[in-house]
Amino acid sequence: MFWEPFEGMVRCELCSHRCPIPEGKTGICGVRQNRDNKLYALSYEKPAAIAVDPIEKKPLFHFHPGTPVLSFGGVGCNFRCLHCQNWDISQADLSFPYLKRLPVEKIPGLAKRYGCRGVAWTYNEPTIWYEYTYEGSKLLKEKGMYSVYVTNGYMEEEPMRELRKYVDAMNMDIKAFTEEFYRKVVGAKLQPVLEHAIAVKEMGYHLELTYLIIPGYNDDFDEIKRFSRWVADEVGEDVPVHFSRFHPDYRLTDVPATPYRTMNAAHDIAKEEGLKYVYLGNMITDKESTYCPNCGKLLIKRMGFEIADYRIEKGRCPNCGHKIEGVGL
Ligand code: SF4
Repeated sequence: MFWEPFEGMVRCELCSHRCPIPEGKTGICGVRQNRDNKLYALSYEKPAAIAVDPIEKKPLFHFHPGTPVLSFGGVGCNFRCLHCQNWDISQADLSFPYLKRLPVEKIPGLAKRYGCRGVAWTYNEPTIWYEYTYEGSKLLKEKGMYSVYVTNGYMEEEPMRELRKYVDAMNMDIKAFTEEFYRKVVGAKLQPVLEHAIAVKEMGYHLELTYLIIPGYNDDFDEIKRFSRWVADEVGEDVPVHFSRFHPDYRLTDVPATPYRTMNAAHDIAKEEGLKYVYLGNMITDKESTYCPNCGKLLIKRMGFEIADYRIEKGRCPNCGHKIEGVGL
């Protein structure tokens, strides 16, 4: 899906790289190949990882909280993040030894068997095996189940709009708020990601954003302030924002874990900029719980990915009646 002939090659139009692909070659993601001037999705029906996770792990805090979700990842990625925490599959290719074969029509039954109401396309970038996620989400929707995307936001708008028929929610990474970071650390551009986040919200997906704070790379308080202001102005102050704590991984093993004081400062900056739901992750904190943005009452008490107390009633704060942003609350 989403390609066209281009100067004797094919051009993939699925993500903002828009790779021109010569005969026999693959695009940047390594799983979409030009064969006889047709674009083939090589990882179709070949998951590399399947697991039952709490939906909170995606992280999605305002979407069917407290439910397990069957999570699928494949191989390859359209980004090259130096700090990738799933690099063993995201930077692998189709020679990865643990690929499974799972026909798409088996997905809803598998999710049900494990007590899940839906599926998350996650771990690596789901855009690059779009056809599998699209057809799987369609089958899930027909059974009254949900699908969510955990994404880097590089998918172009047309496939994103098509996907909205069947996918309900997205957690999108904003990996930093400078083009320099995206160029040097990710191998992509920031601007398309920002435009796509706005479009995703306008298309009616439930959207949450994640910003992983890496010391010395994207932890400048002015950068975090500009990011927070942009969310409030352009995407919506109701959109939940997750600041995640970095720990050394992949090619950034010489960078220390993010100090707690940086994390707490980022939380306070985002709140000052008007964001209503700001969370800290990958650390022990009371800032992983949900509070009413109107009266301050504790609404969902979380301990890691567990829900210790749940007080929202019919999507509203039981104390002041304020409507809480989300789905399935
Ligand atoms: S999905 Fe892959 S092949 Fe297509 S434009 Fe993106 S990186 Fe290139």
